[in-house]
This record gives sequence, structure tokens and C-alpha cells, in this order.
Amino acid sequence: MALLQIAEPGMSTAPHQHRLAVGIDLGTTNSLVATVRSGIPEVLSDEDGRQLLPSVVRYLANGNANIGHKAQAHQTTDPKNTVVSVKRFMGRGLKDIAHAENLPYDFVDGDREGGHGMVQIRTVAGIKSPVETSAQILATLRQRAEDSLGDELVGAVITVPAYFDDAQRQATKDAAQLAGINVLRLLSEPTAAAIAYGLDHAKEGVYAVYDLGGGTFDISILKLSKGVFEVLSTGGDSALGGDDFDHRLFCWIMEQAKLAPLSHQDTATLMVKARQAKEQLSTNDETTIEAILKSGELVQVTITAHTFAEITRHLVGKTMNAIRKAMRDADVSVEDVDGVVMVGGATRMPHVRRAVSEFFHTIPHANIDPDKVVALGAAIQANLLAGNRAEGDDWLLLDVTPLSLGIETMGGLVEKIIPRNSTIPCARAQEFTTFKDGQTALAVHVVQGERELVSDCRSLARFELRGIPPMAAGAARIRVTYQVDADGLLSVAARETRSGVEASITVKPSYGLGDDEVARMLQDSYSSAQGDMQMRALREEQVEAERILLATQSALESDADLLGVAEQAALAGLVQGVRDAVQGSNDTSIEPGVRQDALHAAVQALAKGTEEFAARRMDKSVRKALAGKSLDEV
Ligand code: AMP
Repeated sequence: MALLQIAEPGMSTAPHQHRLAVGIDLGTTNSLVATVRSGIPEVLSDEDGRQLLPSVVRYLANGNANIGHKAQAHQTTDPKNTVVSVKRFMGRGLKDIAHAENLPYDFVDGDREGGHGMVQIRTVAGIKSPVETSAQILATLRQRAEDSLGDELVGAVITVPAYFDDAQRQATKDAAQLAGINVLRLLSEPTAAAIAYGLDHAKEGVYAVYDLGGGTFDISILKLSKGVFEVLSTGGDSALGGDDFDHRLFCWIMEQAKLAPLSHQDTATLMVKARQAKEQLSTNDETTIEAILKSGELVQVTITAHTFAEITRHLVGKTMNAIRKAMRDADVSVEDVDGVVMVGGATRMPHVRRAVSEFFHTIPHANIDPDKVVALGAAIQANLLAGNRAEGDDWLLLDVTPLSLGIETMGGLVEKIIPRNSTIPCARAQEFTTFKDGQTALAVHVVQGERELVSDCRSLARFELRGIPPMAAGAARIRVTYQVDADGLLSVAARETRSGVEASITVKPSYGLGDDEVARMLQDSYSSAQGDMQMRALREEQVEAERILLATQSALESDADLLGVAEQAALAGLVQGVRDAVQGSNDTSIEPGVRQDALHAAVQALAKGTEEFAARRMDKSVRKALAGKSLDEV
């Protein structure tokens, strides 16, 4: 029984009253806030006219903090207290952070220090969590918005990468709450970019969003149908971006100028020049790099756009490989793609655009500033959710669950309740029952993953439903409901239908899964599918064996007198046969299929051997029920 409900997070409002809402692109390097004014989306500036807010927070000894440009200026002089790229730490444990040892921070392991699993950073102003640091950035953007709009905000749409999991999304929401922002919803970044280009009003079909920033590359395949966006697949490379083009150009300059290995300072100087040259080559056919090294040596090299494209071709090629993979995952071909959107500063490079255009046989959408497109799309969506909708703007935006969500059943098996790639928000319910007579509590174990055994999946949460009235095994009806809201957060509720006892939990996993981890879990599930099915069949047989042993034991306790001595001995032999087979079924040196067959035979023998006993017990209970009653009463 599956209940699927789609709830729109929009809210009603008084007519003709414009409610102030913003879209926030909470980026790894820079963040932006945008709004819709007079029907036109625009990015809001600070008092100095700057639109980008560096996502940098510097903590000070007096307990205060600098945020944005001021903090960024101290990145090299006070690295320990200047937190950059905090987005990478959101909803993450210390062990999830790649190359943590190379970062300048004094990390505090959240598992040990009450950070609910999330890593924290020790600063001069005390221990700070990624949520607090992100909240500082969000609060700055909120202040900027309220200052420029002249009123309080109704709420904000905040963008997150499409692959962000529950923990990362929840951390983002917590940060917004701490910053005093009402989150209208979290929106995936590629979906926001597609909205900025008005693709939600375009023809139904498949769209690709190519996002090449300074340090990361993301590709997302979206499907638009009936006005609804769905993320079909995501992919990319978290260590590929515009910085790699700078680095390649830097190496080329070194070769051309025949330079010996440089000092740190000279390297930094030349890297800055390389970056400037790269950016100039987006609009010029050639440029000259000039730098004076500390030794006084002058470096002067000219490069054409053509040469730059040649020496960085392999980097563009890497992004193409990631696109192919994402398209395979989404099961779409180039012909299926109706449009492509370019996001991220590095997509300004003409040879990148050309490669994307040739790959998809279409001119990509690139006329909106690729640094602002996500914030602008979020602003459009925020405007609608705040109730400032135009006629016909009644669409929904949907994402999907990256991995299946399930529950542990007897035998350590997983019953999937919400399958992977389900469009969210969604809710599904399934009925379960008790295993033992008189069982009054039920342990609910929520797991995530594609494998058949709980031990191979990720444990998300556990809770108990208590107070179930004592009943025979299998008589209780426990309805378990899984609900994933628009932001990907999972609530699980269990309810015994007769008594109405209930228990529930909202899953806020202690730390998140990276997209690499998701990919690994999927890969494992494909390669282990056959073995998993065999193990599942064996575990099911073991559960059945336990069930029949319990039932036989309970029947013998109450009605052994219905059997003769020889019958009792025969039954004891069959029971022992099942017990031996259960023990044998744990012998991992034997194939699971063979173990299952042996156990199945013993269980069947016991089931057959107890048929007569069950019939006599039935007669006895009927006689008991009828005893002393007249025919009329019956
Ligand atoms: P983002 O992370 O989206 O802000 O992108 C930053 C990257 O975009 C950096 O590598 C920049 O050097 C690069 N970028 C910005 N402007 C240009 C340009 N005009 N041409 C090439 N790359 C650019």
C-alpha cells in the first residue's frame, strides 16, 4: 500500500500586497542575495556597491567576527581564525573532510564534543560549528536585503547543491534559522539556474546544467514535465574548476620562460597573472603576461586564445566524461536534451562553451551572468512562494531521493519504503506486524541504501514503539509512515492501528554522505545484487524457521497432552532437525543457496509433521468454545 502525496510549500497571502522575499546562493567561495522588484530579478549590492559577499568569516579575540571582504583580507595573515569554504563542512563529520590535515584549522571532532557528529573549529572566539559560521554569512545577506528593501523579509529560498544529503540540508536550514531567516524552501542550484532562464515555462523535456566554478564542476540532468522539475542525475568532479586552468597556464608560462622552480611568493604572483590572463583570453585573441620576480627577473610571455584552448583541452575533456556518465545515470542521450544552461564563472571561457555546444549540438543558455544565475533563479522562486505569483505560475519543483530509505525487518533484512530516485516531497506507508506472541514493543530501525541486508546499509535512526497491547504474533497492525519533505528531510512515524499508540522521529543524521559515497553505495548494490538476493532468501528462511520453532514450542506447552508418546518423540525429532539446520545455515563455508535448501527442507518437514497436531488443537478449541452452549446460542 503506497500513499504518495505531493505538498506544495507555497503559502496563501493577502491579495495585492507585495511580500519581501529573497533568493540566497550560499556558495562555497562567494554568496549572493537577490530579489524580484517590479517583476525583474536583481542581485542586491552592499553599501559599497559590491554584489558578491566572500563566504569568509574571521573570528576575533573580543568574540566578534568580520564577515566577507574584511575577513577575506586576513585569510593569509590569520588563517586559523578565518574560516573559508565552510560549505564543505556543513553536516559533515571530521572523517568526511578530505585533506583535513592540510587545512589551517584546529578541528574539533563533533562526535566527541557534543557537536552531533558535525565537525567544529576552535577559534579565538571559542568553538564554532559550520552552522554558526554559515549563519553569520546568511545574517549579513539578510541585513543587506532588509537595508536595501526597507522592510523585514517574509522569507528566503536558499540554494544547495543537488547532491546535498539530509544532514547537509538540515545544517543549511539550521543556519538560516539561527540567522533569523524563514526558509521558504531549499532549492537545488541547477534547478534555480534553469528557472532563471525561464525554462520552467519552456517545452517539456530534459535539460542539462553545466556548472564550472573556481574549484568544482557539477553537471545535473533535469527533467521538466507538467511544469515540474525533477533532478534525474547529478555528477561532476569536486576537484576540477577554473583554478586548474590557471595552474595549467602557470605551468605553460614556466616552460616558455624556462624558469627554475619558484619561491612561494613568486609562484603566488605568477598564479595571479595566469588567472588574469585566462580571464582576458575570454574576450581577447591574445594577451601578454608580464611579471617581475623577486630576483628582479622580468617574465614576459604572449599567449593566444587558440594556444590556451589547446593546453587546457584535457581539462575540458574531463568535464565531458563526467557529462557522459551523468547522462548514462539519467538514461538519456544527447538527442533527448532540449537545452543546456551554463553556470559558474569559468563557463565564460569560449572554448568551454564551444565544447559544450558541440557535445549537445545546441547553443547553451549563457547570457545571464553565470555567477548570478543561481541567486536570480532562487529569487524568482522565493517571490512565488511568498505569494507574489503571477497567473499561471502554479508549478512545483521537485528533487529526488539519492538513495532508498527503508526499515529493518526480522533477520536483519531491509524493506525499502521509499525507493531511490523518488520525487520529493513524498510520503509512503506500509503495515508491519509483531513477530512474537504478546510482543508489546517494536523496534523501528531506519536505514538508507540499496543493499538487501541492514549490515550493508547506512543506519539513520532507531526508535521504539511501546505500549502495543499483547496479542498473538502477527495480529498487531503497525503502520509505519515515511515522509520526505520538500527539503529532503525524513520523518518516520509508527502507529499501532487498534490501540492508536504512536511514536515518531525526524531524521537528522549525525553526519552526511558525500556524492562519492552515494556513488560507491550504488555501485556496491549493482555488483552485489545476486549475492544479496541469495542472502535475503536465506535470512527469510531463517526467520521462518525461528517462527515455526516458537509456534511449535508454544503449542506443546499448552497442548502436549493431545499427542501420544511416540508422536511427541517424532515431533521432537523434527524440531531438532530444524534447530540443526538453523545452526548449519550459519556455516559461511557453504553456498547460501545450498544452506537455504537444507533449511527449507527441515522447515517443511516440521510444518508437515505438525499438521495433525494443529488439527487436534483446532478441534479442542472449538469444543472448548462450544462447551455448555445450546445449539440456539451457537
Ligand atoms: P565561481 O566559483 O563560479 O565564482 O567561478 C570562479 C572562476 O571563474 C574562477 O576560476 C575565475 O577565474 C573564473 N572566471 C571568472 N571570470 C572569468 C572570465 N572572464 N573568463 C574565464 N574565467 C573566468
